[in-house]
Amino acid sequence: KRSHTRLPEWLKTPIPTNSNYKKIKSDLRGLGLHTVCEEARCPNISDCWGGDSKSAATATIMLMGDTCTRGCRFCSVKTSNKPPPLDPHEPENTAEALKRWGLGYVVLTSVDRDDLIDGGARHFAETIMKIKQKAPQILVEALTGDYAGDLEMVKLVAQSGLDVYAHNMETTEELTPFVRDRRAKFRQSLAVLKAAKEARPELITKTSIMLGLGETEEALYATLKELRSVGVDVVTFGQYMRPTKRHMKVEEYVTPATFEVWRQRALDAGFLYCASGPLVRSSYKAGEAFIENVLK
Ligand code: SF4
Ligand code: SF4
Repeated sequence: KRSHTRLPEWLKTPIPTNSNYKKIKSDLRGLGLHTVCEEARCPNISDCWGGDSKSAATATIMLMGDTCTRGCRFCSVKTSNKPPPLDPHEPENTAEALKRWGLGYVVLTSVDRDDLIDGGARHFAETIMKIKQKAPQILVEALTGDYAGDLEMVKLVAQSGLDVYAHNMETTEELTPFVRDRRAKFRQSLAVLKAAKEARPELITKTSIMLGLGETEEALYATLKELRSVGVDVVTFGQYMRPTKRHMKVEEYVTPATFEVWRQRALDAGFLYCASGPLVRSSYKAGEAFIENVLK
């Protein structure tokens, strides 16, 4: 069992009890959806699911199975070269379940599937199209992999009707080879974000960076500039937390004050909005942020 005793005060979180959260949790039973929020025991679940109104309630759904073909050093998802085949009914079933759930904003994410010829892009795009047909009021964010640099696949997903295209850089260029799977490259990820924006300029593009991996201030600042140069609209910063002893070490617990400094720097660099804090994940209250900053 993981001990919380050596964590700084600001990383110790209460168990969610909010009544809206409980209601959504009971609604979810029987829908057959796999939320990252529940499976990763995300500490933000009560903030995200029990947002101020149901139209802003956000959840993250995992598509394409629970087994990834990559092995990033910060990630606790299972790895295999040959994960089980995709479930052809998943796009339809996910859309149907989301329609019944009545959520305001959904983040769809997936493992990386280097074993599939299209990396699963068609399956992902089909899921988005089905959601938009069945429940057009739901705002959809897709958090995708890099499709091994196949920008045609990025375009296909970008043009499937979604509202936000997210792809995570995770860290600075220098640290990328030590943090991410060797197939995940910094320049390739920038190219993904650039291609998504070019495919549909009105689309919001978004990325997330973990702090506490040993990144320098200069390198982080340079990363922000690079992201702006390819038109990325939104960035989020959160603390890297080591999932198990077999994963890379935390170099630093970044203070809430430093997270606030980076939020301000991101806004000064021209990002539309930025969520930044020790417990922030890329999907943190994404619905509320989108409604406040894009729709208004
Ligand atoms: Fe779910 Fe993401 Fe919110 Fe965590 S931060 S509860 S994973 S939507
Ligand atoms: Fe985890 Fe994504 Fe890396 Fe796969 S590609 S190991 S899911 S971070």
